[in-house]
Amino acid sequence: MAVHLLLTMTSMNRQTRQGHVTCPDTMKETTPSRPETHVLSDIPFELTADLVIRLMKVRRVPPSLQRLVEELVARSLEVATPKAMFRVAYVDEKTEDGVVIDGHAFQSSVLRQNLDGVQRVFPFVATCGAEADGVENPSGDLMTTVCLDIIRMHLLGTARRHMEQQIKKTYALDQLSRMAPGSLPDWQVQEQGTLFRLLGEVEQSVGVRLTDKYLMLPLKSVSGIFFPTEVRFESCQLCPRASCIGRRAPYDPELAARYGVQA
Ligand code: SF4
Repeated sequence: MAVHLLLTMTSMNRQTRQGHVTCPDTMKETTPSRPETHVLSDIPFELTADLVIRLMKVRRVPPSLQRLVEELVARSLEVATPKAMFRVAYVDEKTEDGVVIDGHAFQSSVLRQNLDGVQRVFPFVATCGAEADGVENPSGDLMTTVCLDIIRMHLLGTARRHMEQQIKKTYALDQLSRMAPGSLPDWQVQEQGTLFRLLGEVEQSVGVRLTDKYLMLPLKSVSGIFFPTEVRFESCQLCPRASCIGRRAPYDPELAARYGVQA
């Protein structure tokens, strides 16, 4: 019989008199000398063997797979701490093919166009957390690798969505879109370094670091800039790459042309 493992952690946010959101152990209060930075480290999440099997999209679940998933879910639950951080930042300047945000220059024509009429933005990082990333697979078994990947992706997605909801609720925004360095040729991955400098103490706050190739570790981490939009924007709309399992929106050649992006 399947063993169901469920962990739900909840936290209540509260609004301070200054309009800053704090949450016990989740959000650091802003201090006048620092940018308004928030760290979320007790993000509610649900993780069960049934959920992981659903995400694996397998038709038939042999008892050996059921046992493996139950064991990996149990090990992950012992340590998992998905995290996210964001800060409030302001567009200082808009150039022909980029923007300057709190003194940090980013070169991307698409970002520049998306920030037309936008002053306040939210640079962010979200991660499955180094703890879940550290659940070991000493034998290198393929099914274990797949299953751990799905667990970490689920934790990462939960952290990212939780942060997005927090930003929308706190700043009374109906809709956010996001862009990330490296997601389109228009915005070079090297600007991950600028983004991390804009965010400040990313590794100390949420345990995510950049390699010299601008890869984030833990691998199941995302970064970028959230901005308010009336019409939802996804970089995938401008990306013609075929058979991408991460695609979040269909390719739209007309939209790409309007942004001046070449296929
Ligand atoms: S389609 Fe895939 S590669 Fe292209 S932007 Fe979307 S996720 Fe990235």
